[in-house]
Amino acid sequence: MAPIFSDIQEGYFKKIAFICLVFCWIVVTTSCSDKPEVRSKKVVLVILDGIPASIIEKVSTPNLDSISSAGGYARAWLGGEKGGYSETPTISAVGYNSMLTGTWVNKHNVKDNNIQIPNYYYWSIFRHFKETYPQKTIAIYSTWLDNRTKLLGEGLPETGNLKLDYHFDGLELDTVRFPHDTLSRYIHEIDKLVASKAVEEISTKAPDLTWVYLQYTDDMGHRYGNSPEMDAAVQEADRQLGEIWRAIKEREKNNEEEYLLIVTTDHGRAQGGYHHGGQSDAEREIWIASNSKFNKRFIQNPAIVDVFPTVARYLGIPIPKDHAMELDGVSLLGEVSATDLSGKIEGGRLKINWKNFGEKQVGKAWITFGNQFRYGNKDAYILLGEVNLEDESAEFDISNHAFQNAKVVLETPTGFLNYWVKNADQ
Ligand SMILES: [Zn+2]
Repeated sequence: MAPIFSDIQEGYFKKIAFICLVFCWIVVTTSCSDKPEVRSKKVVLVILDGIPASIIEKVSTPNLDSISSAGGYARAWLGGEKGGYSETPTISAVGYNSMLTGTWVNKHNVKDNNIQIPNYYYWSIFRHFKETYPQKTIAIYSTWLDNRTKLLGEGLPETGNLKLDYHFDGLELDTVRFPHDTLSRYIHEIDKLVASKAVEEISTKAPDLTWVYLQYTDDMGHRYGNSPEMDAAVQEADRQLGEIWRAIKEREKNNEEEYLLIVTTDHGRAQGGYHHGGQSDAEREIWIASNSKFNKRFIQNPAIVDVFPTVARYLGIPIPKDHAMELDGVSLLGEVSATDLSGKIEGGRLKINWKNFGEKQVGKAWITFGNQFRYGNKDAYILLGEVNLEDESAEFDISNHAFQNAKVVLETPTGFLNYWVKNADQ
């Protein structure tokens, strides 16, 4: 049988095949090398304890100013809804946990610094991050051990045995090395070591999500109120912050990394600058600074609970829908459709209000009766209907439902808002 192709033809085809192969190889390799390097995104959260906005704005803080000029600075708030079901004490651990969980005390249940029965069903942003990206690293550098062991709940079955990859804390328990003096010099010394360790490990290990907590400013506020001592402590905190900020910039310069740095405080202080815990405007007022440029929400009264969704957005953490429906904050990065949902029931009608940020967007209003999420169960939401977000209000007939408490959720193109309502008719 005659061959289909002559030897010449076969040699010709082989040559063509070889040229095609080389061509494909060139295309593949050049298209790979032409791809822009993807910079890995990392987050550093810093809490400087108990510095009122009026003080941070008055005292010279060149490092905070440098961060703010790269991104922004805004007065902010915490404390939940004053006089409402989410009213939240302006106490340190309560404030940290509002940042970590993106919820107020009615959900996270950390009522004071004793941290007795946190509701770990409201996951911290650290847990969400680690559950999504187990290979990525989380770190804490802190002048208070409880931040790791109780708030983040390291090693507890209730937090899925969350494990921090790096930590440096608990020095306050070493009373031999750090004798507790009434002027809190030991806290100052510990802050310095904590800040240095954070700088060292950001520089060498570059954790993907880091929390730095420094305490000395709060001690000076309690002891001296508004005073030269407080101002000096704020300047010292700013110097420590400056070391962290320089370490971040070095990492960005020398590595394919990009950082979101958020600096905030955990409460304001009552008149005179001494105490906190109550609901005065001065105690509820805080501030947030960042190296990132934030959205419209940032210039219109952001809250500490906005930090969680902001970090989630930046790091690409997909928050499961049932968790997202519980968040009390909105992202300061990217688009925001609406904020500030509130509602009430009168005469069998649910009236809801919100603040619109978008244009011609549609939302969906949902309701569930009771609260299963707080027990680790799923809530069954019922769709009430669609709303035009520009209307900023809507009404629904719910007279055929018998209930005492309900959770209302407004689903928007950029996330969820929620509000609890009491049935006054019952
Ligand atoms: Zn505090």
